[in-house]
Amino acid sequence: MIKVLDSTLREGEQTPGVYFDGHIKLAIADLLDEIGIEIIEAGHPIVTEDIHHAVHQIARKNLKAIVAAHSRSLKQDVELALECGVQFIGIFYSVTNERLDQVFRKDLKTAVRQITEVIRYAKDQKPELLIRYTPEDTVRSPFENVIEAAGAAVEAGADIISVADTTGFMVPGTGHNMYDYISRLKEALDQRGLSPMIAVHCHNDRGFALTNALDGMRAGAEIIDASVLGLGERAGIVDLAQLLAALKDIFRVPNEWDLTRLPELYDLISKYSGMPVPKNFPITGENAFTHCAGVHTHAAVQNPVHYQSLDPALVGREMDVALDHMSGISSVRWALDRLQIEYDNELLKDLLSHIKSIGLKGRTVHLSELKHLVEWCIKHPLKQ
Ligand SMILES: [Zn+2]
Repeated sequence: MIKVLDSTLREGEQTPGVYFDGHIKLAIADLLDEIGIEIIEAGHPIVTEDIHHAVHQIARKNLKAIVAAHSRSLKQDVELALECGVQFIGIFYSVTNERLDQVFRKDLKTAVRQITEVIRYAKDQKPELLIRYTPEDTVRSPFENVIEAAGAAVEAGADIISVADTTGFMVPGTGHNMYDYISRLKEALDQRGLSPMIAVHCHNDRGFALTNALDGMRAGAEIIDASVLGLGERAGIVDLAQLLAALKDIFRVPNEWDLTRLPELYDLISKYSGMPVPKNFPITGENAFTHCAGVHTHAAVQNPVHYQSLDPALVGREMDVALDHMSGISSVRWALDRLQIEYDNELLKDLLSHIKSIGLKGRTVHLSELKHLVEWCIKHPLKQ
């Protein structure tokens, strides 16, 4: 079964300038839980005392979701995470030769020993703990190093191996794609008699994060990382709403997600992260289900399917029509019907003329404004 891991509270806070106060973190965790997200990555407790307190509080809320903490491959990080009461720890350690040489000043053997000792320690403390090991920058690391570290991690007690595309390097349809990588990884681990769950953590540097994550799922990844608005380092990671909509509507994966709460979640995150939802953002952007050009609107008001492949009701939205210089008679008719205003053809034409001239100034006429325009046209018709 596919599980979604939301990392808004961990990866999301790695967005420059984004920080959620403790009580806001609790509200976010509650809403993610109500939506039915399976795993909530609540933070990396050792980073600050505030994050430590927040992870502690979220872990003790008795959510349906599994609460996870991030941890370096160090005993002190694991101890603090365990003290918070989380059910899942994500341990990361790089296995690229350059990082091992230049940053950690260790060889692979010593690094693997450190990783496995920390995993064994964590499992000894709490046998039911879920442990994920991530070879950082997995997909650009030497494959043999990844297999050696991942294999040893699983043998030491790790339940999940996360394939991290830390720099958004993978591109579907090329020689470096997530489907082939995960297929190869699973096969190599299988040859060692190991079959951990596979997770995918895809960064969006080239705009392929969601496609790569879905590609990974087709190859057998069962946990997909995402965050609200795709918040995270640089260009961020997979957007949660886009992922959920694809999994539910296209891939029909078994789930209990209530996607109608997504607008509420995005409002909350947008407000407290200071990151506005781009108007043209898929699923949650203001314009995501708004038709503008007269030809589009004419067809969409008769049957939305002509210009929509996703039912907005699935994600708590409604179809909308924008009134501006691109509008046609159908757009005005739709808006007046919506406002339950009676009209004749003369009024329709007058309104359309006014709407087009307002649109040419670069403005949209909102429904709340339209009733005033109706009043204006009735009192001052263009043709006497
Ligand atoms: Zn990341």
